[in-house]
Amino acid sequence: MTTNTTARFSGDGVITFQDVAMGPVRAGEVRLRVEVCALCGSDKRLLASGSPVVPGHEIAGVVVDAADSTGTAAGTRAIVYIPVYCGQCGQCRRGQTNRCLDLGELIGWQRDGGFATYVDVPAQCVIPVPDDVPLDVAVLGLDTVGTAAHGLRLALRTQSEPPQSAIVVGCGPLGLGVIAVAQALGIPEIHAYDPNAGRLALALELGAKEASDLESHNQYDIAVEVSGAGQARALAQRVIVPGGAVLALGESNDPYTMPATPRWRRTDCFTVRSFYFPLDEVDGNWEVLRRCGAFLRDKLAHPLTLAELPEAFDTFVAGVHLKPFIVTGAAS
Ligand SMILES: [Zn+2]
Ligand SMILES: [Zn+2]
Repeated sequence: MTTNTTARFSGDGVITFQDVAMGPVRAGEVRLRVEVCALCGSDKRLLASGSPVVPGHEIAGVVVDAADSTGTAAGTRAIVYIPVYCGQCGQCRRGQTNRCLDLGELIGWQRDGGFATYVDVPAQCVIPVPDDVPLDVAVLGLDTVGTAAHGLRLALRTQSEPPQSAIVVGCGPLGLGVIAVAQALGIPEIHAYDPNAGRLALALELGAKEASDLESHNQYDIAVEVSGAGQARALAQRVIVPGGAVLALGESNDPYTMPATPRWRRTDCFTVRSFYFPLDEVDGNWEVLRRCGAFLRDKLAHPLTLAELPEAFDTFVAGVHLKPFIVTGAAS
């Protein structure tokens, strides 16, 4: 019998731990020993509200058991795709699994996630990791680089010529992922803005330049808004060139409003939105991670144990650590 130590969020910032006896792996599922589960900004919402399931959705681990029908071998190193997509609908059949028309649960949101020693996931959510990519780099292939790369790929598809300039507004983990991916995709001029000096400094270390003019119109082919703040959205809308693309990746509880100012009414441009990547981009994402993943990990990640999860959230919420990683085994 396997005992699973799981974190429970009961609301108002309270985290407790529960040991649960695990039964046999269910049909169609795979059991992973969690090696790394990264904290995500969106987890702060669950910390405040509480969660009926085990949170944690940026998971890398090693397969320890699997239902026979899955054909997944024990020992497989993997990251976990969050959307439990149907695999049958028109979008899934085209490989656009993030656009599934019959999306069931999200792992770590509607079913148990990775703030635990083990997690059972549907076999189709197991993404095997190439041997040369360490798990603490591979985990960045989910929200940090996977989402950034997909958003940028969507934005590039709107452009008839390769974009020459981009601004990234908001330099948290996803914003830094966008900078790294924009470089890997060959955008020559990448500027960054963040009101937090420490985050901006990391963006500059990654190779972005500090955006010096936040007021003038018509400056950037791509404006990536990664904070969800109203001012940041307005900034992106202000600096975009006609024909450019505003990429809206930031999330907040504030409504995303179009201001209907003369400037907005008379700007011919694209607004692109995404939240996650399709599985058919995973191979391309490994390529991006081979170039920038270890550097991103070294700049972003702060390893802590599962027992330290409450402290991890304290430092995360306080902005001391940009991306705490809960490591429950020896990441390899
Ligand atoms: Zn996330
Ligand atoms: Zn589907």
